[in-house]
Amino acid sequence: MAVATEREYGLFINGELVEPASGDVREIMEPATGSLLARAAMAGEADVDSAVAAARAAVDGPWGKTPATERSRLLHGLADAVGANRKELAELESRNVGKAISSVKAEVHGAAENFRFYAGAVASIAGRSNPIGGSLLGYTLKEPVGVAAQIVPWNYPLLMATWKLAPALAAGCAVVLKPDPATPLTALRLAELAGEVGFPPGAINIVPGDGPSTGAYLVRHPDVDKVAFTGSTRTGSEIMRLCSEPIKRLTLELGGKSPNIVFADADLDDAIPSSVWAIYYSAGQSCEARSRVLVERSLYDSFVARFAGLAGGLRVGDPLDPGTQMGSLISVTHRDKVHAFVDMAREEGAEVVTGGEPAGGEGAFYPPTVIAGVESRMVVAQEEIFGPVVTIIPFEDERDVVRIANDVKYGLMATVWTGDPGRGHRLASRIKAGMVGINMPYTAFPGLPFGGYKQSGFGRELGLETLDLYLETKSVLVSTSTKPANPFGL
Ligand code: NAD
Repeated sequence: MAVATEREYGLFINGELVEPASGDVREIMEPATGSLLARAAMAGEADVDSAVAAARAAVDGPWGKTPATERSRLLHGLADAVGANRKELAELESRNVGKAISSVKAEVHGAAENFRFYAGAVASIAGRSNPIGGSLLGYTLKEPVGVAAQIVPWNYPLLMATWKLAPALAAGCAVVLKPDPATPLTALRLAELAGEVGFPPGAINIVPGDGPSTGAYLVRHPDVDKVAFTGSTRTGSEIMRLCSEPIKRLTLELGGKSPNIVFADADLDDAIPSSVWAIYYSAGQSCEARSRVLVERSLYDSFVARFAGLAGGLRVGDPLDPGTQMGSLISVTHRDKVHAFVDMAREEGAEVVTGGEPAGGEGAFYPPTVIAGVESRMVVAQEEIFGPVVTIIPFEDERDVVRIANDVKYGLMATVWTGDPGRGHRLASRIKAGMVGINMPYTAFPGLPFGGYKQSGFGRELGLETLDLYLETKSVLVSTSTKPANPFGL
């Protein structure tokens, strides 16, 4: 089904799309063409109040009493609905984000699989009974935390929404999710589908809006019990502050500057094209983009030449063309920020081997860019650029590469390419990152915890562990004795 252009989207509150009390309706643009895609309502404080009230009523009402088997059935239903509507969702996402449809199709598939994983994972929610001794019996209950506020960025609007929604709903929480104001469309469409498969009103509410106003208001809302945030480390730090009074449960999925390590004994016919993919899919706008390629010195010059040749030959263009390998960036403003980093690298003495100049025209395009002659202390090797820019850094040996890999404030992901399996495992244990790939470039699979060390955040998504972040554990103590306890002997 083709996407209806210039559709107007309301807020999704209490099971339906509604007009915003804020009166704020904005144009949503296609970054690859600069043309109008849709109009979408933005939530203000009164809208957030309505959404949180609907979520509270749901969790205190019918949704809170929905048995695990029924929650599982609904999650399977939503997985089916995402699958059945995959073409529409992929096209909408591709046009809204500017991302190549070939990548987005995989994301939509991942979105459905994620719901399916948590539909099964519901079965793992269970307390324990603890023999305490004597006539005392203890057992634990797992209860939903309550109302979860979830805030997601623009780079994977559908996938990030599903990563957040699925475990929260599996746990029995009700959700108020705030997408980025530039990319609200697929989350709103997903909520419509959730309503169609039977999720009750109030279980899912979607309130796009500006971060510092609407987002911060949602985080501070007294009836929100838990906050889950994906975005930049700077915003994560502000959200952590907002959650400190009153104390709220919090998980943070933040930025990254992930290393991709290539030893001379690696299978280079796999390592080089895979390393190219690991930075340029999503045009580098991925938290786990392997934006620092660390290469054993004996290999450095030939590696840079081969890598730059492949990068420079990537097909960049119309996101909806199935042959496109890299689409546009999210906006012209973001493209200019990316370009400023490349200029900074030039000033610091690094060499731009390919790319490095914005494409002309209406769209927010930036070419795959390779920067060589980089030292780890340079800004371009330390800061998250969040664009199609890679820095290639030489290393001497295992010890040296571990030092460089850990020499950033982030710790999200690392990939190691080597012909020596023992070395792969040694590095996996020494690199401070939440995820390490050995001889394969992929990162996210439902069931495998996804998240960071250091300033990449805390908490995990996609895993069974994630359920616990949406559950409270309650201990119940029972006396089975017929004698009174009377500890004071009164
Ligand atoms: P951002 O922090 O600017 O915004 C993310 C979200 O937070 C948006 O919805 C925004 O509106 C909202 N927001 C902004 N300020 C806020 C505030 N004061 N209070 C409440 N909400 C606020 O990030 P971005 O530039 O949109 O996204 C890119 C960042 O996200 C990158 O750093 C990337 O690494 C990170 N990211 C991390 C993961 C992960 O799983 N670790 C996944 C995707 C993206």
